[in-house]
Amino acid sequence: MSGKRDQGAIDLDRDRCSRCGVCRDVCPFGSVLLDPYPVIDDSCRLCGACIKACPEVALILREAVPRRGPDEGCGVMVFAERDGDAVRDVAFELLSKGRELADELAEPLVCALPGPVDEGLASSLVMSGADRVLLLDDPCLTNPRVEALTAAMAGLVGEVCPSILLIGATSLGRSLGPRLAVRLRTGLTADCTGLAIGEHEGRRLLLQTRPAFGGNVMATIVCPDSRPQMATVRPRTFPRPLSNPHHEGDIARQVSDLSGLTERIRVLDIVCGVREESIVDADVVVAGGRGLGDRKGLLMLRELADLLGGVVGVSRPLVDEGWTDHAHQVGLSGRTVSPRLYIACGISGAVQHMAGMQTSEVIVAINNDPEAPIFDHTDFGIVGDVNEVIPVLTAQLRRALSQDDVRDVCEHEQE
Ligand SMILES: Cc1cc2nc3c(=O)[nH]c(=O)nc-3n(C[C@H](O)[C@H](O)[C@H](O)COP(=O)(O)OP(=O)(O)OC[C@H]3O[C@@H](n4cnc5c(N)ncnc54)[C@H](O)[C@@H]3O)c2cc1C
Repeated sequence: MSGKRDQGAIDLDRDRCSRCGVCRDVCPFGSVLLDPYPVIDDSCRLCGACIKACPEVALILREAVPRRGPDEGCGVMVFAERDGDAVRDVAFELLSKGRELADELAEPLVCALPGPVDEGLASSLVMSGADRVLLLDDPCLTNPRVEALTAAMAGLVGEVCPSILLIGATSLGRSLGPRLAVRLRTGLTADCTGLAIGEHEGRRLLLQTRPAFGGNVMATIVCPDSRPQMATVRPRTFPRPLSNPHHEGDIARQVSDLSGLTERIRVLDIVCGVREESIVDADVVVAGGRGLGDRKGLLMLRELADLLGGVVGVSRPLVDEGWTDHAHQVGLSGRTVSPRLYIACGISGAVQHMAGMQTSEVIVAINNDPEAPIFDHTDFGIVGDVNEVIPVLTAQLRRALSQDDVRDVCEHEQE
């Protein structure tokens, strides 16, 4: 009855069909014509409404990709998103977590790298923990060609049959993940903030944790019946692995057949906007909370952040109060950051805040309450009033830096 892209097709049993037209009437996309038997055109989305409504049970869904069951999968696969000539940081972060999961399962860690072949990039993925890097060698497999990427990745996953597939929750990843999940007929947990291996009904499954109901609960989700278990993960949720030049892995080219691909999205132009100061990429974040007292406190933080070459972040109440905009909010409903240094000033340490900064390399907190929960998570704690501590800290730092500058100049002159 209809050939329907790569996901499958709806077949008609003419012996059963009475040409009643119910299928045409219920189709939400207007894809069914009667001629005199039903014919489905390319606008069909395979929603199945016609199949359910057919009184003669004359319509049958023929799936192109059979659903893979819980025993049909081995290994962890990470999708390495390209950013021009580089790989996005989130791919390395996923390799770090993927390595942990793969070791726990005693299974391999595979990484899919799309786009023009770059052996250097592939080696960096091996040094970051991948046992195998599969190069999806096709120049059209670039961001933002999501339809081509979906087709190539669906083919690759079909061949490799990983048990787990991890994708960064970037703009591309958020578009690729659901498309792939539909193709592969499996589930997807989007925007995970935690991943672990755990027991569920006698099986070892991927426990995928993510905020639900507006962040009021943390839900742990499993995908027991189909493979791969798919998750997208926010950038900066996991730390980047240390590069290990001794880690061994192989690199293989993979041919993807994109000949039958019809892309419905055409990229006309890519316009790069001006990038604003981003707390996500900063090495130093000086963050303020309600303990600052009023919005003038942010100026004090700005001075300290400027000295350290960092940026200012805030807890949610400061955004709610309108002191600054949401782009500066750290936490569950804000941004996830993982700087080398995070200084929390007058922040209590609520779980929703900690969820956005707990992977920072060094955490310093300044709080006048010695019992504040944030002190349970810090490397260095200063008990005191932010309005007293920060000006002293800033002045001392300024002095130390200027002495360093003087020393630098002297050393330079001696040379
Ligand atoms: C669904 C949901 C999502 C959320 N998402 C986020 C999120 O993304 N980010 C986020 O931050 N919060 C989020 N929250 C809010 C979160 O629960 C907390 O309410 C919030 O983090 C508290 O902010 P705070 O630490 O600045 O304020 P408070 O909890 O009021 O803490 C202020 C701290 O400052 C200290 N203090 C007071 N005066 C001084 C002083 N003079 N000197 C030094 N210390 C002082 C106090 O001892 C206290 O520890 C969310 C909440 C919900 C329900």
